[in-house]
Amino acid sequence: EDSEIGSSPSPSAPSIAESKWNDTVSYAKKKNVQAWYQLPDGNWELGKIISASGTESIISLPEGKVLKVQNDCLLPANPDILDGVDDLMQLSYLSEPTVLYNLQYRYDRDMIYTKAGPVLVAINPFKKVQLYGNESIEAYQRKSIQNPHVYAIADTALREMKRDEVNQSIIISGESGAGKTETAKIAMQYLAALGGGSGIEYEILKTNPILEAFGNAKTLRNDNSSRFGKLIEILFSETGKISGAKIQTFLLEKSRVVQCAEGERSYHIFYQLCAGAPAALREKLNLKSVGDYKYLRQSNYTITGVDDAEQFRNVMEALDVVHVTKDDQESAFAMLAAVLWLGNVSFTVIENENHVEPVADEALLTVAKLIGCEVKELQLALSTRKMKVRNDIIVQKLKLSQAIDTRDALAKSIYSCLFDWLVEQINKSLGVGKRRTGKSISILDIYGFESFERNSFEQFCINYANERLQQHFNRHLFKLEQEEYIQDGIDWTKVEFEDNQACLNLFEKKPLGLLSLLDEESTFPNGTDLTFANKLKQHLKSNPCFKGEREKAFAVSHYAGEVSYDTTGFLEKNRDLMHMDSVQLLSSCKSSLPQKFASSMLVQSEKPVVGPLFKSGGADSQKLSVATKFKGQLFQLMKRLESTTPHFIRCIKPNNLQSPGKYEQGLVLQQLRCCGVLEVVRISRSGFPTRMTHQKFARRYGFLLLESVASQDPLSVSVAILHQFNILPDLYQVGYTKLFFRTGQIGVLEDTRNRT
Ligand code: ATP
Ligand code: MG
Repeated sequence: EDSEIGSSPSPSAPSIAESKWNDTVSYAKKKNVQAWYQLPDGNWELGKIISASGTESIISLPEGKVLKVQNDCLLPANPDILDGVDDLMQLSYLSEPTVLYNLQYRYDRDMIYTKAGPVLVAINPFKKVQLYGNESIEAYQRKSIQNPHVYAIADTALREMKRDEVNQSIIISGESGAGKTETAKIAMQYLAALGGGSGIEYEILKTNPILEAFGNAKTLRNDNSSRFGKLIEILFSETGKISGAKIQTFLLEKSRVVQCAEGERSYHIFYQLCAGAPAALREKLNLKSVGDYKYLRQSNYTITGVDDAEQFRNVMEALDVVHVTKDDQESAFAMLAAVLWLGNVSFTVIENENHVEPVADEALLTVAKLIGCEVKELQLALSTRKMKVRNDIIVQKLKLSQAIDTRDALAKSIYSCLFDWLVEQINKSLGVGKRRTGKSISILDIYGFESFERNSFEQFCINYANERLQQHFNRHLFKLEQEEYIQDGIDWTKVEFEDNQACLNLFEKKPLGLLSLLDEESTFPNGTDLTFANKLKQHLKSNPCFKGEREKAFAVSHYAGEVSYDTTGFLEKNRDLMHMDSVQLLSSCKSSLPQKFASSMLVQSEKPVVGPLFKSGGADSQKLSVATKFKGQLFQLMKRLESTTPHFIRCIKPNNLQSPGKYEQGLVLQQLRCCGVLEVVRISRSGFPTRMTHQKFARRYGFLLLESVASQDPLSVSVAILHQFNILPDLYQVGYTKLFFRTGQIGVLEDTRNRT
């Protein structure tokens, strides 16, 4: 058969390799056929074959180029009628260039969403596109539009939540700047449009500007980069209306508060406060402009196209909506001002002695006033440390570097406690008096895989999280799927996929995994980043996912590529110690927030992992290491996600310039490869993504039968339905307990059922 054209997926879908021309096809047939040719730079160009012989072809490329090329360098192109299909499953030839071309074809026409089987691919347009708003939402609700869209995903999640009475999740992934946060907001918008009554849906939407102000910052990759992970669970009542929501956040990047890279900014809220605070507030907090604060003037102050003052008004309004009282708002802003002024606290080195004293200037006095403590107490906390030696408390005076670290640690803690406190306030407002009755839809927007020139502890944690998520993705789309086929006894040839268990083991194995070794080294008083790196090299050198590198560096083979980590700062960031002196200072403050922060710091003392919470002061409390706490959060997250029906959205960044209309093949391809989009399409084409037990199928569609069936058992009824609807044998399989269908097959039945 000559033609492989058709919009329905061929039952025995070719693998990517098989997508190459089968050489037994006569060469004459290739003449005049379009083909993809890979240029030396890796990009693909569409050409036309002029003539072909055994191993070589002559092709004409755009701009009049004619080349003689090895047939190996050519891949078949799809016929024009398949240009821009809305599901990659429909491509007759599935290969990297055909997928890239299809996505680009759509992208050029502002069709930024494409299905890749069960996964929605979203390419960041970096401009306003006419795809959103009430009209569009209604069209998806009525199902009068079928185009792939985040709305369609949210709609499916809603329907499945109601139909199956199972919690749902929408899992959004992608690199920094790919559009995860925007996508999450678009999904929330759709769900909120359902309404809930009492304005709860409006409150839910208003959590976004707040969390973005406090948790997002300009980075080199994204002007509005989320520096924390977020899961928002939207709760529904039994009648299917929104009844509340709950937000969980993961690992805020604290270091940014005191330091950020060139060209980046600290958290938006600082600039917004400085630019937009009303006069009375300015005076009360003794606010200056951005350029007056050391923490902020390390880098550029403004973001093109963003008005920080206006944003501040939006944030204040949003805080009102989620019922944060004016008093609480003011206390929160006071904490922000305290952090900024802390950064300006300076020290004088006492002559001939190796220690320092904080200068009693405007900065110090303002901090003391804002947090509500005595200047003297603050000075002591920043320049001395109480130590317990046997039964005596001795006071050690700090060196300059120690004092600076203490000051910065205090600033970071205040900020991260403020962030957690804010999330808690929001949760109170979103959950007031709500009993959990119905089901929920969770939306996960978590930092994507990161690989920079220099990768530190933050990237280490983020990439570990991504390994976990990738495994969840794999398990759902490859592993569980195939296991189910085999278990139910249907004809099936196994499709291989990239399994990342080995990499997860490298992280999680006890006692000789990256996390365990990190914790162990963090508890040793004499442990350093170098001894940690050496220990890794010693114990993990034979692990294929691990590579020791120069000095303090090591590399991990992640599913998305190899990343080299520099262990500088690992131990300190993992320990995340706060001196007892600082905690005591906060707990003695007259203002209520510092007191709350101090007690929340003291609470985190369940399992002893990295030793004393505080380096001194006689407190026996122990603290979980950052990595262990994060791992615990991830496990909990995975457990929650595993009890939901997942819907995956893969965001893709088409260029690194954050500009519209630029589609860089290489960059897109690398992202498609690392998240396994092609494999998903491949397995979905050859697989049976829709399934239902015999019972459920018979119950759901049995009434559509025109003739009665002799035997009433579910299997007989099911088979009779299949026959009546003329579903071709290639398109379904009957398992021991379930019926399995290829994509789209059940649609006809559902439509008929809904019409009847
Ligand atoms: P990070 O991991 O750094 O938080 P992200 O994946 O969350 O990145 P976003 O902040 O969602 O990325 O998107 C980056 C920018 O891209 C947005 O600020 C916006 O300008 C643009 N953008 C993303 N999605 C869309 C969209 N659907 N329509 C218009 N612009 C978009
Ligand atoms: Mg984001």
